[in-house]
Amino acid sequence: MFRSFLIKYAEIGVKGKNRHLFEDALIHQIKYALKKVDGKFLITKTQGRIFVEAEGEFDYDETVTALQHVFGIVGICPMIHVEDEGFEKLGETVVNYIDAVYPDKTKTFKVNCRRARKNYPMESMEINAALGEILLNAFPELSVDVHAPEILLNVEIREKIYIYSEIIPGPGGMPVGTGGKAMLLLSGGIDSPVAGYMIAKRGVKIDAVYFHAPPYTSERAKQKVVDLARLVSKYTGPIYLHVINFTDIQLYIYEKCPHEELTIIMRRYMMRIAEHIAKETECLGLITGESIGQVASQTMASLVATNEVCDLPVYRPLIGFDKEEIVTVSKKIDTFETSILPFEDCCTIFVAKHPVTKPNLNIIRRHEHNLDEKIDELVKTALETDELIIVE
Ligand code: ATP
Ligand code: MG
Repeated sequence: MFRSFLIKYAEIGVKGKNRHLFEDALIHQIKYALKKVDGKFLITKTQGRIFVEAEGEFDYDETVTALQHVFGIVGICPMIHVEDEGFEKLGETVVNYIDAVYPDKTKTFKVNCRRARKNYPMESMEINAALGEILLNAFPELSVDVHAPEILLNVEIREKIYIYSEIIPGPGGMPVGTGGKAMLLLSGGIDSPVAGYMIAKRGVKIDAVYFHAPPYTSERAKQKVVDLARLVSKYTGPIYLHVINFTDIQLYIYEKCPHEELTIIMRRYMMRIAEHIAKETECLGLITGESIGQVASQTMASLVATNEVCDLPVYRPLIGFDKEEIVTVSKKIDTFETSILPFEDCCTIFVAKHPVTKPNLNIIRRHEHNLDEKIDELVKTALETDELIIVE
């Protein structure tokens, strides 16, 4: 029965002269999300309202699911719109609407009219009362509750008349593209896809970098990261994924540095390389899936050590999350099942039995110094052989 949707979006912080930027970005993201859905759609913006309308055949469920992936949308209201053919006709339309949408009529309701077109011959309050009476006459099982109705029937009188009562929740947040761009360090684990999702939710476009160590990490491990990027891209739009061959760097650190410091020093090189690519691609920050105390390399002291090597801000949206809370989000955004596939994201030979939990910065710096110019060469080669995969 529904071919159109009224899109509700949060307006906090976007009032004033930036509002149209917000709306245009939202429309851009809606178009992107609907590109993959069967059907043709018309998206229009009028007087602070965004409408999505299907032209011809379309898949309703797919459309709603796609819209539920667009940050900035707080509600998706399936609606009907009719021409104004007089109040009597409107009464009939409203009766048919309730009849079709609510097979069980033992419900409370309230009519909420908005008269945006001021030359309509009746006032909002009058329309509420008159439509309420028509509905009560048509369906005696209905009853009115003006405070907490089960059905809030919205009737908006504009050029046309819009009728809707259902609000399907959207993901909230801000439209991607309104908040600049950041570089996500994306591994095959549970955390980093969630971290990317959370920063993108605030309107930030995401690029990603994955450190691959063949043959210690398999082709399937890399494919898993591409698959994760694709799942995140349902929310964020296209992701430029940089795959960096990290093998030689890892082996060289393994050869030259104490093994209990391996993870920290490796992480420092990941951050340096990620920041380098970030700066070249106009990213304004890095994103990781770190959470305080989760593993040895994520203690406060370890974070000092990995943070030290970059000057862009490092966003760690999961910093105060327990694993269980991260898992809940990862299930919600559908990355969990892929994240737990059993392909190693880092070979176990590179994981020390007793990694430092309180790295001493001076000692770490001294050991890195022993890596001399050769490490710079290896980093340079890694950057030169960056494999770019556009995931969408
Ligand atoms: P995740 O579940 O995201 O893999 P993790 O708990 O395994 O995280 P670590 O391995 O310590 O944690 O990594 C911390 C963060 O560093 C990750 O969340 C991710 O942002 C980044 N990271 C780790 N390994 C890689 C990699 N191979 N490529 C890109 N980023 C990585
Ligand atoms: Mg990991």
